[in-house]
Amino acid sequence: MSQPKLLLLGPPGAGKGTQSANLVERFGIEHVTTGDALRSNKGMDISHLDTEYDTPGAYMDAGELVPDEVVNEIVRTALEDADGFVLDGYPRNLDQAEYLADITDLDVVVSLSVPTDELVRRLTGRRVCSECGTNYHVEFDQPETEGVCDECGGELVQRDDDTEETVRERLRVFEENTAPVIEFYDEEGELVTVDGEGAPGEVWKRLESAVEARL
Ligand code: AMP
Repeated sequence: MSQPKLLLLGPPGAGKGTQSANLVERFGIEHVTTGDALRSNKGMDISHLDTEYDTPGAYMDAGELVPDEVVNEIVRTALEDADGFVLDGYPRNLDQAEYLADITDLDVVVSLSVPTDELVRRLTGRRVCSECGTNYHVEFDQPETEGVCDECGGELVQRDDDTEETVRERLRVFEENTAPVIEFYDEEGELVTVDGEGAPGEVWKRLESAVEARL
């Protein structure tokens, strides 16, 4: 059997990145995440698309969605090369969901569910290593030395879009655009909802059994 094709849905801060890493290790699949791909291409010139801003970074810093043309292309290329994957951060609206349905068949679609107050606390407290990308949290997951990465000694910084104002906007955009995507998969009868509250290890146990039960 070929490797599983998984989709992890959920609001910003639900733990999609952390849980995707677990899925990658468990199933030997690739992690395809539009957020990271766009962060590596923040300055790309997209002015030819005649959209509101000229770069992906400008949308990201405002907490808005990057245009579908840009994101769909990133995903198409990444999925073409992958033997099994977990897709994280995409699709974020119904048009993207329809595009995805045209280019691949998914084995399992999971929605990670976390209350809004908890999401704000997780996101505004998140710190990221500027060198290796490891995540920390000012309350829940502190490094040994404040501001310094345990893994590589790099400087810990706050993501530009993890400030309270942008976080609230990202959650609003999620409700408006991405909540309908979750409904779309639910109506197709493909969706499994996993409780994303609690320690990462506890969430992983629930997620792993939910995915295994459906493969
Ligand atoms: P994330 O790391 O998934 O929270 O994504 C960070 C930012 O990247 C989002 O706030 C959007 O500006 C942009 N982004 C990521 N994935 C998508 C997507 N599928 N469609 C549009 N914009 C996206």
